[in-house]
Amino acid sequence: MELPKLAVFDLDYTLWPFWVDTHVDPPFHKSSDGTVRDRRGQTIRLYPEVPEVLDRFRGLGVPVAAASRTGEIEGAKQLLELFDLDRYFVQREIYPGSKVTHFERLRQKTGVPFSQMLFFDDEKRNIVDVSKLGTEWCYLHSCPEWNESSSPNSRIRDICKGPSWTLRFSLWMSLI
Ligand SMILES: [Mg+2]
Repeated sequence: MELPKLAVFDLDYTLWPFWVDTHVDPPFHKSSDGTVRDRRGQTIRLYPEVPEVLDRFRGLGVPVAAASRTGEIEGAKQLLELFDLDRYFVQREIYPGSKVTHFERLRQKTGVPFSQMLFFDDEKRNIVDVSKLGTEWCYLHSCPEWNESSSPNSRIRDICKGPSWTLRFSLWMSLI
C-alpha cells in the first residue's frame, strides 16, 4: 500500500480522552515529576499509544498535522507543547468551524493533494465533510465490541475503538 503524504489527526477523543474546551480547565502546567495538570490540579493524560503512533509515522517519513475545531485554541496548543508532541506536527490548524477550512489550509501550506492525506477523527460529521474533498480517512469511534469494516486495499476504515485502546493502536499500525 502506498503511504500517505500527510497524516492529519483530530485532537479531542483522538489524541486525548476529553474535550479540551469542556472537560478540563486550562491553563495547564507540568509538575516537576512530568505530570501534566490543569488549573484545578486534575491530571491530564494522552491516550497512551499516541507518542508511539506518531513516532511510527515519523519513522516512515510521513509528515503529521493537527486539525481541531475546538474553541479552546490556546489550551489545545499548550497541551501539544506540554506533552512534547509539537515536534511531530508540521502544521497545526486549531479553530472552530468546518474542517473543510482546516484541510484547505493544510493543502495550501503543504502542497499535498487531498487524495494523499489520511485523516483520523472520532466524529462522523468531520469524516463526512472532509471525505467530500477526496481525503482518505479513518473513523475512530466507541462501541461495546470491536468491529471493523473496510476494503482491504484502502486506507478508508470504519474502526470501532472497542473496550481496548491497545487494540485500537494495533489497528492504526495496520493502516500504515
Ligand atoms: Mg474529536
